[in-house]
Amino acid sequence: MHRPVCGEDSLSNLTSEAIGPPPVDERRLHPMVRVNRIVRTIGCPLAVFVVVTVRVDEPTPAWMWAALAAYAFAWPQAAHGLARLSRDSKRAAQLCLMFDCAVFGAFATLISYRLVPTIALATGILTAVTSGGGVPLFLAGASTLGVVFVAGMLAVDWQVATQTALVTIVLSLALAFLFQWLLAFQGFHLARELAQRRRQIEEQSAQILAQNEALETAMRHAEEARQAMAAANLAKSRFLANMSHELRTPLNAIIGYTELILDATYGEVPERVRGTLQRVERSGRHLLALINEVLDLSKIEAGQLKLDVAPFALAETVTAAVTSLESLAREKGLKLETQLAPGMPQVTGDERRITQVLVNLIGNAIKFTDAGEVEVRACAEASRFTVSVRDTGPGVAHEFRSRIFEEFQQADTSTTRPKGGSGLGLAIAKRIVEMHGGTLALIESEVGKGSTFGFTLPLAGPPSIAAAQPAASAEAT
Ligand code: ADP
Repeated sequence: MHRPVCGEDSLSNLTSEAIGPPPVDERRLHPMVRVNRIVRTIGCPLAVFVVVTVRVDEPTPAWMWAALAAYAFAWPQAAHGLARLSRDSKRAAQLCLMFDCAVFGAFATLISYRLVPTIALATGILTAVTSGGGVPLFLAGASTLGVVFVAGMLAVDWQVATQTALVTIVLSLALAFLFQWLLAFQGFHLARELAQRRRQIEEQSAQILAQNEALETAMRHAEEARQAMAAANLAKSRFLANMSHELRTPLNAIIGYTELILDATYGEVPERVRGTLQRVERSGRHLLALINEVLDLSKIEAGQLKLDVAPFALAETVTAAVTSLESLAREKGLKLETQLAPGMPQVTGDERRITQVLVNLIGNAIKFTDAGEVEVRACAEASRFTVSVRDTGPGVAHEFRSRIFEEFQQADTSTTRPKGGSGLGLAIAKRIVEMHGGTLALIESEVGKGSTFGFTLPLAGPPSIAAAQPAASAEAT
């Protein structure tokens, strides 16, 4: 079995924080993308149709027909696809609208700036642009359209046709009307969707409010229950403290008088009676130890246990505790060893209580070990003292490792019950060490091989003392 040595960080519990997976990139399409798709699917072919009615009578190269067809039928889907693929769908949709403005500007050149269709095309596309991005996008769209428009004008040397076929005029007006109608319809649709969402949000808010109220009520009840429990616990601790006191007084008298009788103060005691009296004394002492433990625990729980803090030499305290238990170890044929680091500084704490912790750990090690050895080590590190007690006893199974530190709890009772005990010693020792600002734990254990219990104490003393020290030294200076 691995032997924990001083300096090894065996008492620290390191915890690591699990880092969750990065959040998924949820790309949401801007509502404008959907509106533009509908408007383009109908508007682009119609606009191209207007151009076709003019170009059909004029010499037009094949590539231009192909380009017009592509704009009419492929562009609405391509623009939608681009916006979907883009990280910022709104920005992509706006850029596509700028392309539309440029194309519509070119269309004006293709129809030789005939007044009615040119106005219809310009108002149609600028209405769509304004509905997508307000005044800023309107200005950007108008500028793009204007630049292409003027560039075209320059290219055709300001040649403007005045004759417009009826079909072109009708189609142009239909185009302008369609843009207005589609956008108005979409506006209505969006407004209705917004109203629905607002209603949903209001409903959800009402639900959250109701849940909040229920949660507050539950929290109030929990707080009331906690207060009731704390009050009951305090009452129990007070009751136990009083009862323990009342029990100790007559018990001390019983033990005292038994000792007096055994010492033949009241005359010679027959051998037969002596054996019985010795059993009375042993049982009385056992009962007194138990009552003392209950009294300690109730004092700790009621916050009435006060530490009598002063500097003391840990090495001497450990030696004294070991010496007091040597006869017990000898009786069981166990080797009891002590290893103390040389030159340890003084501990600041309650020596009587630290002795109680030591006696509990060493006493347990001797009590539960039937063969082998018990080894006590103590040393001082950078910021703390470390004391460990190793034995070659039965060990503590995994499932009992936290339970043994709870009040009145023992490990597997089939193996430890025959050894006696109340199950209070470790619970009290742990609380005493914690009051000193240290930690007490089962460092390691292997069933059938042994256990190592250990505790630390801060070099600076209990937290209250450590906190008071800087103030005190400041006052002194
Ligand atoms: P008690 O010894 O009075 O039962 P403790 O609180 O001191 O109470 O110990 C609780 C339990 O922890 C013991 O009953 C025993 O089951 C287990 N235990 C403590 N020390 C040892 C040890 N050195 N080896 C094995 N088991 C132990």
